[in-house]
Amino acid sequence: MDDLFSRDGAPVALVVDDDRGARLIASSLLHDSGFIVEQAADGIEALSAFERFNPSIVLLDVVMPGIDGFDVCKQIRNGSELGRHVPILMMTGLDDIDSINRAYDAGATDFITKPINWTIFHHRLRYMWRSTLVSDDLRKSEMKNRALIDALPDLLLRISSDGRILELREPNGFDQGFCCAEQLSKNISEVFSEEVSLPIVQNLHRALTVGGLQFFEHNVQVDEETRYYEWRIVGSGKNEVVAIVRDITERKKTEERVFRLAYHDILTGLLNRNSFKEHLAQALAHAQRHGGYVATLFLDLDRFKRINDTFGYRVGDLLLQSIAERIQEGVRKSDRSARHVDAQFTRRISRLGGDEFTILLPDVKHVQDSARVAKRILDSVSRPLVVAGHEIFITASMGITIYPMDGEDSDTLLKNADAAMYNAKEQGRNNYQFYSEAMNASSFKRLSLENALRKAVDRQEFLVHYQPQLDMASGRVIGMEALLRWKHPELGLVPPNDFIPLAEETGLIVPIGQWVLNAACIYNKNLQRMGLSPRRIAVNISSLQFRPGSLVESIRRVLKESGLDARWLEIELTESAIMKNMEESSGILRELKQMGLRVAIDDFGTGYSSLAYLKRFPLDIIKIDRSFIRDIPGDHDNEAITAAIIAMAHSLNLEVIAEGVETEAQLEFLLAHGCHEVQGYLVSRPVPGEEMMQFIGKERELMTWAARFGKGIEGLSDLGIGKTGEMGVGF
Ligand code: C2E
Ligand code: CA
Ligand code: CA
Repeated sequence: MDDLFSRDGAPVALVVDDDRGARLIASSLLHDSGFIVEQAADGIEALSAFERFNPSIVLLDVVMPGIDGFDVCKQIRNGSELGRHVPILMMTGLDDIDSINRAYDAGATDFITKPINWTIFHHRLRYMWRSTLVSDDLRKSEMKNRALIDALPDLLLRISSDGRILELREPNGFDQGFCCAEQLSKNISEVFSEEVSLPIVQNLHRALTVGGLQFFEHNVQVDEETRYYEWRIVGSGKNEVVAIVRDITERKKTEERVFRLAYHDILTGLLNRNSFKEHLAQALAHAQRHGGYVATLFLDLDRFKRINDTFGYRVGDLLLQSIAERIQEGVRKSDRSARHVDAQFTRRISRLGGDEFTILLPDVKHVQDSARVAKRILDSVSRPLVVAGHEIFITASMGITIYPMDGEDSDTLLKNADAAMYNAKEQGRNNYQFYSEAMNASSFKRLSLENALRKAVDRQEFLVHYQPQLDMASGRVIGMEALLRWKHPELGLVPPNDFIPLAEETGLIVPIGQWVLNAACIYNKNLQRMGLSPRRIAVNISSLQFRPGSLVESIRRVLKESGLDARWLEIELTESAIMKNMEESSGILRELKQMGLRVAIDDFGTGYSSLAYLKRFPLDIIKIDRSFIRDIPGDHDNEAITAAIIAMAHSLNLEVIAEGVETEAQLEFLLAHGCHEVQGYLVSRPVPGEEMMQFIGKERELMTWAARFGKGIEGLSDLGIGKTGEMGVGF
């Protein structure tokens, strides 16, 4: 038996011939080749045998009584699915082209002429059978593929190398919201937004150039819902690719759920212990590379058990949820700069379990900032809460550890923060404690200073001193700078450098600065009311006050209320305040100039100012920083810088004044380089208002001094000026 013919079970062959002899030879040959043979003697019999036996191959004689072979062939072909594909070998008794053509037209697979050469017959049969098997396999695999494709939930696209959609198969229920049959033959860039079309095009090119399967994911917003898609792109010819797009929204959502469960506390939605530790470790690694402190705050509710015992666990759970919100609120309020980035905060707060919470402050500049956050959280937690109809008062105790001082790794920092929390409980609850004693001490000092500063405005503990600005050319007091003083009830006079940075950090500088502005304008107006000729008053403006809208508004109000003409008010701004946002700055400055104010650049030379940038702003005067004046004459660098600043100011038509002039040598240097406006201890220290008035009253004597200065005549000291007593001038 020829094993080529063998297939699972023996195949059936149908031999149709009215010539009994031929039928027998063919049958026996087929039988020897492994077929089960059925026979039919005419067309009618053949058709019914075909239906009955479902043969795998048909041998069909052409010339028969009744229906001839051509008709039988046609009817088999049109009769059934099997008939369409079954190989039919026609035995044409006539060796002419016409009947061969008719055989093919009728649907014959092949033909053989009679009288039959049985050796050739055997080969024909063999090859026809083999190709039948091959095409049968092909057909089956095609059917399988189609079934597979039909079962796929994916959107299939065939895309040309230039991005045109050549073919599109959209499965039922594919709720893609972005691609449908109407998109056929459109370009990718017309169908998808740029965000999506760009990666498609990139991956398409990669699939065509590099080859292999390209893969990417993206999402689209469909009616407030985010849907996720996964694209697989593979080259399918020289100039086209096949893209399989799968809707993976459900998978993504499941992943998210799993993620939430694995990393979050179910009750509060905050992080759980493990993920908090992970975040802490990341923050530590970052701080290790880039410097800075990392604070870990450990919070434990005071007497939480009492709540559970009194109201039951359900209320206890609700309370914990409210506390979680309160903690977030406290953290958020403490971080003005990032208030809108809510997600960032939830990523820093965890519930470790029970009534224990931890808060991570990843990038702390000053250790004390963490104390401020702790205080805010405690305040926020201790406000009365209504839970399930019960009004509940609860407080918390907190411990704080600071990396790197209190530990190098997350376990140690958490453990020590826990210990510090117990210390806070021992201190009477509702407070926070640093792990390290030294920090507790300095935290206390600073916070009490901060508290005192908050109250200082109301308690009228601030006052203003004035330092005259002298024009050496005329000997006149052309102006004065208002300098803030704080008379602390216990600490005495606190110098501005000790509290202004704190006032800026806490934002208190805004109301304080407003107070100074007001006091200075009233003072200057009073001088004029007393009959002194008008002169300008310079007021320092912090960068926090230098904001669009608010500054111009408050200056306008102060001028109106004090009655001072705008041209007698000068505001002093630092370079950095202006540079923060140049566009905004020039807007504010233009408005101030329109009002008639003067604008000074304070501490000039310490920032990054360049000529080019100065020219852009409507400025009046440059104040050369004291640090340059201090070392002249003598220090060549500072001499050169000072001379250059003066020359530059002149070339820009700006006034220039030197700050911190303490010696006659300094004064002489400045005069020699063309700077004749000066401010400094040589003329006078900052003094209280009345003394400033007396000082101006002696202007005549100052004029004489100034006129003689530099011509070898006695200095200020002869007039009692420039003595360095606390209030300076001895007029
Ligand atoms: P500043 O604006 O550079 O003020 C000049 C500082 O130099 C004043 O210090 C003044 O007393 C001091 N000074 C003046 N002449 C001499 C001198 O010949 N030698 C030396 N060694 N120092 C001299 P003060 O009053 O301690 O103020 C320090 C800083 O505090 C000020 O520096 C200013 O930045 C800030 N400040 C003072 N008042 C205010 C205010 O009302 N608002 C704001 N935002 N800042 C203020
Ligand atoms: Ca100043
Ligand atoms: Ca200054």
